[in-house]
Amino acid sequence: MRNSAVYIGIGSNLGDRKANIEKAMRLLGLIKGLKFDRASSIYETEPVGGPPQNKFLNGALRVKTSLGPFRLLAELKKIEKRLGRKRGIKNGPRTIDLDILLYGNKKVNTKILKVPHPKMHKREFVLRGLRELK
Ligand code: ADP
Ligand code: MG
Repeated sequence: MRNSAVYIGIGSNLGDRKANIEKAMRLLGLIKGLKFDRASSIYETEPVGGPPQNKFLNGALRVKTSLGPFRLLAELKKIEKRLGRKRGIKNGPRTIDLDILLYGNKKVNTKILKVPHPKMHKREFVLRGLRELK
């Protein structure tokens, strides 16, 4: 299968943020059918929306994968779960957030997955990492 270039947004604002991001990156690298390509710098950002909460560390990653977008989303959710991500308040604090930003030129528009990530273009904290990788 042809491997698509995929961009993943990564963020954390709970617990040891740097360790969470490093762990998530390590787990990503262990996914079968996914090859880690490059990471942007990791930078601190102000939370957008949600309750008052800590600042985030954010970055973006480029990977190559033979997994389809839904399969990839399932793998990202597994990693979020392993790192203790609790689903709760919208835009609330999180140990780790992994979002599919771009998946080659693919467009997906379903309830559980939207690619390109719909809020990406409005979020400087996402665009900064992407710009570094492009
Ligand atoms: P957000 O990342 O928007 O702050 P969550 O991480 O809690 O919020 O994600 C909520 C839901 O968004 C997920 O359960 C997932 O099914 C859905 N979702 C839709 N599009 C995407 C995407 N491109 N990447 C990651 N999750 C997505
Ligand atoms: Mg998310």
